[in-house]
Order: sequence, then C-alpha cells, then structure tokens
Amino acid sequence: MSDCLFCKILKAEIPSEKVYENDVVYGFKDIQPLAKEHYLFIHKSHTKNINDLATQAPHQLTDVFTAISDFTRTNNLEEDGFRVVTNVNSNGGQTVFHTHFHVLGGEALKGFGA
Ligand code: AMP
Ligand code: ZN
Repeated sequence: MSDCLFCKILKAEIPSEKVYENDVVYGFKDIQPLAKEHYLFIHKSHTKNINDLATQAPHQLTDVFTAISDFTRTNNLEEDGFRVVTNVNSNGGQTVFHTHFHVLGGEALKGFGA
C-alpha cells in the first residue's frame, strides 16, 4: 500500500535497521524500543492487522512465526526467553496499520503476571 509506513520501509523509501529477511518476511529494529531488544516482524504482503490477515492470508502467520523462531534461535533470544506481541486498533494501541509482531527480549519483561 502506497501510504503505509511499513510498506515504505519494505521498498526502502524509509530507512530501517534490518535484523532478518527472507523471501516473504522482514524483521527490523523498533525505532522506540520498549525493551533492551525490540524488533518488528512483518510479512512483505500488506494486511492491516491480524484479523485481516486471518481472513485474507492465514498462511502468513506460519511465514512470520517461522521467521521469528529462526531469528530468536540464532540470536541468543531463545534460552533467556522473549515475548511476541501484536496490537489491534485503538484499544490495543495499534498505530501502524500493517500487521506486525513486536519481538521483545534482552531482559526480564514486566507485565502479564511477571
Ligand atoms: P504499534 O503501536 O503496535 O502499531 O507499533 C508500531 C511500532 O512501530 C511502534 O513500536 C513504533 O515505535 C514503531 N515504528 C514507527 N515508525 C518506525 C520506523 N520508521 N522504524 C521502526 N519502527 C518504527
Ligand atoms: Zn503495508
């Protein structure tokens, strides 16, 4: 989508710090990290959020989670642990409307009972 921030990142119209890429998935550093390590993983094919993805292109979930698994295994995040978060619409705090998965780690994360 031409007016989508993350589509612009995929087209390199906006710079990003790439940490992972394969044919269908792109991973990059979040510009305002909420943990010592904070990455965003997106599918290269645009959907708005996980509910759109689930109805329009559910196979993308496998693509993205396989990529996150590859990345966290090979970048020392697996053993200490990490968190994956996706936000939907205003109550969820979604500000960029291209489905994305926050990958947080590098320290003990608070919240969710921790
Ligand atoms: P959300 O609030 O779940 O929609 O997440 C959007 C995320 O995108 C936020 O954590 C922002 O810090 C991040 N973000 C916004 N612009 C950029 C950018 N140009 N490069 C990297 N991350 C960005
Ligand atoms: Zn997009």
